[in-house]
Amino acid sequence: MNNHADVIIVGGGIIGCAAAYYLTKKGCSVLVLEGSKDIGNGGSSRNGGGVRQSGRDPRELPLAMYGIKNLWPTLSEELEVDCEYHQDGNLRLGKTEKHLEILQGLTDRAKACGLDVRMIDGDEVRVINPYLSDEVIGASWCPTDGHANPLTTTLGYYKMARRLGARFITEEPVVALRKIKGHLRQVITKDNVYEGDTVILAAGLGSREIAATVGIDIPMQPAMLEALVTEAQPPMFDQMLGTAEADFYGHQTKHGSFVFGGTSGLEGFTKDNHTPVTNSISAPSTCRGIIKYFPVLRDAKIVRTWAGWMDLCADKVPVISTVSEVPGLILACGFSGHGFGIAPAVGTVLSQLALHEPTAVDLHELRYDRFRAKA
Ligand SMILES: Cc1cc2nc3c(=O)[nH]c(=O)nc-3n(C[C@H](O)[C@H](O)[C@H](O)COP(=O)(O)OP(=O)(O)OC[C@H]3O[C@@H](n4cnc5c(N)ncnc54)[C@H](O)[C@@H]3O)c2cc1C
Repeated sequence: MNNHADVIIVGGGIIGCAAAYYLTKKGCSVLVLEGSKDIGNGGSSRNGGGVRQSGRDPRELPLAMYGIKNLWPTLSEELEVDCEYHQDGNLRLGKTEKHLEILQGLTDRAKACGLDVRMIDGDEVRVINPYLSDEVIGASWCPTDGHANPLTTTLGYYKMARRLGARFITEEPVVALRKIKGHLRQVITKDNVYEGDTVILAAGLGSREIAATVGIDIPMQPAMLEALVTEAQPPMFDQMLGTAEADFYGHQTKHGSFVFGGTSGLEGFTKDNHTPVTNSISAPSTCRGIIKYFPVLRDAKIVRTWAGWMDLCADKVPVISTVSEVPGLILACGFSGHGFGIAPAVGTVLSQLALHEPTAVDLHELRYDRFRAKA
């Protein structure tokens, strides 16, 4: 087998698959090494499908805005798969004056970056979404936000990248990277050595251990997120919902079920601290919160709950960056629980970084060297 490619990507989540797609589209040879037996086995198949700009840190907001303006609207057509993308807005809800203060702060920061987002009162909230309870006294409203299906989108990128010539090897966990004459060249697995001109490290949490083999430390740690899906309901609305304190978020899917993510604060107390399994407290706790905002779902049955790890970066925004100490290495990790919505934009800029092209979005706030000790 040919163990060489122009670009080797470590990690077959949505970030690795999207980068593989945009690179093969530009004529690059690409090899993706995925440690588990399934593509999208990490957060990419477990997330809540939010494609939002509102509520984002201003450092990653330009990526979200770029993707929503230029990539998401035509993605289903481009990948020839139904990404179930809806651009029907995001209501981030508040029930107390403190909530409204939080939302006002988020709104002011996003507006300063050029995002179309505004505060609305409870009556306007219920004009947009009549199912919300009278307890909601206001919200931030971003009409260009939306949601999509993480499974079909991740697999859409994977299939189209393969169709364009990318090679994917599953059950091939990377154990180390190796420099040759000062340039990153080799990607080492248990039984094989692969060679590439550029390596994109998009292995989620696994990236920290792999980067350490060439002396790079990305300050990330695991944190668990949980989600649930209800049985199908009659069609109600297409907006994405969230709350001021991010205690739950969710949307109704094309199939009719509602997918909600939420937290009880007890996630992370897992059986063995490695397997992402839900605990018995999170879903009921999330649902108690949801019902206050959204009483019509009082009797909806939950059909499944699941959990996934997020790669929580020390400052909660990703690292998308070349590394001056390791020429040839590009980092794409630390997405901190919000990497799905920006994945098309991230895949695009990764392909540009790998080919030494100017990037569509300025990435300097997401550079690796932001963690260097200041002189
Ligand atoms: C419950 C939940 C809800 C979420 N909700 C949202 C949301 O609504 N909106 C949003 O934008 N984001 C959301 N996220 C976050 C989003 O899912 C992630 O940020 C995104 O999927 C990151 O993609 P990735 O490709 O970087 O990581 P992953 O999907 O985790 O992929 C990394 C891949 O690398 C592989 N890997 C690891 N180690 C190695 C190794 N040594 N060798 C080879 N391969 C390796 C893993 O097996 C995995 O397949 C949510 C996450 C969770 C868990």
